[in-house]
Amino acid sequence: MSPVSAIPKTLLITGASSGIGEACARWSAARGWRVLATARQPSDLGSLARVQGIQIHDLDVTQEASVAALQPWIQAVAPEGLGGLVNNAGIAVPGPLEILNSDELQHQLEVNVLGVHRVTQALLPALRQGQGKVINISSMAGRVAGPMLGAYHASKWALEGMTEAWRRETLAQGVDFVLVEPGAIQSRIWDKGPPTSDTSLGDHPESAQYRSLVPWMMRQVQLAKNRALPAEAVARVVHHSLISSKPKARILVGKDAKLAVRLARYLPTRWLDRQIAKSIRRGS
Ligand code: NDP
Repeated sequence: MSPVSAIPKTLLITGASSGIGEACARWSAARGWRVLATARQPSDLGSLARVQGIQIHDLDVTQEASVAALQPWIQAVAPEGLGGLVNNAGIAVPGPLEILNSDELQHQLEVNVLGVHRVTQALLPALRQGQGKVINISSMAGRVAGPMLGAYHASKWALEGMTEAWRRETLAQGVDFVLVEPGAIQSRIWDKGPPTSDTSLGDHPESAQYRSLVPWMMRQVQLAKNRALPAEAVARVVHHSLISSKPKARILVGKDAKLAVRLARYLPTRWLDRQIAKSIRRGS
């Protein structure tokens, strides 16, 4: 266990209206942080607004003006700078890559990659001032890829590369970057994205090529929901990274994430392809 530093004061979290973001806000506020919880709709933050130590603000990470509006607010509520930023806001756009149109792919990258860049870029001066840490919520999907979530994998792999580069660019500035890579976590993300029927393949002329993937994907989502950890499992890791003087650069959360990354590292890629093909044929 690495030595623990003095707790920095203020932490900003994106996408705090539900799931991991909300859990991080509650977890850190309960441990003495001043938490700036943000979400697209401030009305979604109603219950957090009543928690001691939490202040709320609207933020859509895809909108330049919304991100720019954070800066004067942070200067007003945290003139000493930021001790942390948790880039948590994220979406999963499902579907076979051949079927997805470029607007769908762009939206996926707009939220999960450009959104992180936009917010981090705007807040880096405050993070430098507060000698803060940027915790980027990636995923095991940023290390291991499978069918039907190609756009999501692309976004998380991009986030991993961007975070690694950014950490190395700011080494001398007192700002650190950490990637948190959860496996399955209980949240609404599972009910927002994954396909539930053949119709979710739309009317693309090649849809029929992918029909067998829909029941397989639905089964994978059910299995993931069954094993999903509470969002507090991620909140605990995020908080530990924030207070640790030497946090790991990449932290997998959950047995599924650790196993998947180990299998991908040590087993031949073609062998894993064959196991996935068999699993799709079985529909399980
Ligand atoms: P949720 O759907 O519960 O939370 C996602 C949050 O992101 C919501 O608050 C949502 O707000 C917000 N969001 C979406 N689009 C925007 C936007 N344009 N601007 C600002 N906020 C936005 O899912 P999770 O808690 O599961 O997801 C949080 C993060 O964790 C994501 O980055 C996800 O990829 C990652 N993750 C999740 C895993 C899981 O199994 N659940 C596993 C690994 C990683 P709104 O309510 O307004 O849509």
